[in-house]
Amino acid sequence: MRIYVAGNIVVDETWSINDLPQKGASIHGVKTSQDIGGKGANQAIVISRCGIDTRLIAAIGDDSNGRWIRENIAHEPVTLFPTEYSSPHSDASIILNSSDGDNAIITTTAAADALTVEMILPYLADAAPGDILLQQGNFSIEKTRALFSWAKTRGMKTVFNPSPVNPDFAQLWPLVDIAVVNQLEADLLQPAGVSTLIVTQGAAGALLFTATQRSFCPASPTQAVDSTGAGDTFLAVLLASALLRGVEPDRLALQHASQAAAITVSRTGTVTAFPSQQELAALLATRSE
Ligand code: ATP
Repeated sequence: MRIYVAGNIVVDETWSINDLPQKGASIHGVKTSQDIGGKGANQAIVISRCGIDTRLIAAIGDDSNGRWIRENIAHEPVTLFPTEYSSPHSDASIILNSSDGDNAIITTTAAADALTVEMILPYLADAAPGDILLQQGNFSIEKTRALFSWAKTRGMKTVFNPSPVNPDFAQLWPLVDIAVVNQLEADLLQPAGVSTLIVTQGAAGALLFTATQRSFCPASPTQAVDSTGAGDTFLAVLLASALLRGVEPDRLALQHASQAAAITVSRTGTVTAFPSQQELAALLATRSE
């Protein structure tokens, strides 16, 4: 069983500043970290760390950030396609953290936009019926729809995490088997007709709805220092837990996902904050329901 993640990969640069800049201002700041990020990459890395055969189809650029991404993702058990550069520039996010705890984020999408459906499909060609296609909200609705439609014709299972949210994504539910949304996305997009719906509610926990069950799993208590990537960790471990046991997402998968997300929020950074392969193996071995 294999998971294909079609999405984005970026360099996350975090800067610490006194206050968010006014128009025309020139301010001092300190770069506090550089990490691989992007929802596609985040989710693919955590799924692969759980021991699932994972293909990430994401564009990187022919620049220093692209070479840095390639060097660093080589340490992860995920396979990244395309192997060649797809764009002049890699995508990046600048995360500005001000001293009062507020933040502002600037993200580019040029590399992700440069990856067309025609460029992506060859990397899905060896997918078997039952393999999963997972997408997030970083592609246009046309590209997201085309890839899900193709996957359905091949008998693949489709998983959608519509973040960043676009109101038009509500049109895609007929093509989706498993939806993972936060409460804001659920309210805006009203997921309907999916066989499994998971609604995450931040520090409160998460809800699971299927045709036969409705479960709530409270968040695992932890000292939260940085919630970046909590949702990505949650989704990845939820899918992996179910896949490794050969079941649909269930109560135990919710528990595993909550425990993993609590590890991520207890540490700063993006990929560096995610649970390690050893931590995930120990966590996924627990069976307490
Ligand atoms: P992201 O900020 O990564 O985009 P999201 O909005 O997709 O997150 P959330 O609902 O914020 O997702 O969080 C996903 C899950 O992470 C929650 O259901 C919960 O299990 C866990 N989580 C989030 N915040 C906390 C916290 N402060 N303490 C413990 N667990 C948390």
